Amino acid sequence: MIAFVEGSIGTKEEEERIKAVRANSQYLITIGACATAGGLQALRNFNNTKAWTAGIYAHPQYISTLDTATAIAQHVRVDLELWGCPVNSHQVLSAIRALLFGVTPVQDHDKLCSECKRINVVCVMVTKGVPCMGPVTRTGCGVLCPRYDRDCYACYGPAENTNTDSLTHRFKELGLTSETIARRFFFINNGAPAFAKAGQMVSTAD
Ligand code: SF4
Ligand code: SF4
Repeated sequence: MIAFVEGSIGTKEEEERIKAVRANSQYLITIGACATAGGLQALRNFNNTKAWTAGIYAHPQYISTLDTATAIAQHVRVDLELWGCPVNSHQVLSAIRALLFGVTPVQDHDKLCSECKRINVVCVMVTKGVPCMGPVTRTGCGVLCPRYDRDCYACYGPAENTNTDSLTHRFKELGLTSETIARRFFFINNGAPAFAKAGQMVSTAD
């Protein structure tokens, strides 16, 4: 049986449920940024969840939640992670097809910039000076944003061997403040270790 899991682990019940899902699955695939990196809600891991809950809800005593929102892989073994917010249907179908043929699906770890070059998309960081996250983001989306003249905001999470220091330096040259740069790392995939570390480094550097 193949289990497809969306969403992060944010409550005690979810902690228990994911163990039962794992026990009943031969293959477990996480789908999307929340399941794979904790999602936007993982920002609470850097803060005081109880204080946030009290600041947002009129009756926080009815909110039952863990102090953290974490990725599925922090709780059970994950066989394949599909990044993206949202994931791309081609990735899901090719993973299913591979599994039906008894083949291990291939994970793409390459950087988005490489895909830009392969399909001849003009670089928006070079030509327009916009702060594109492509140099540290994994490929898989088909270069959706740069194709339409927009900078990537890293919804596919970190690529392998990312040089976040170098990108931070480039963003500073483009005139971004440390706070703005930190926010670029502390976005949808803030829970991914490479982005969490980069965000913390730039926000404590000044
Ligand atoms: S547009 Fe972005 S992803 Fe594409 S080459 Fe330039 S920096 Fe890299
Ligand atoms: S270009 Fe970046 S932000 Fe846009 S869909 Fe692809 S990974 Fe996500």
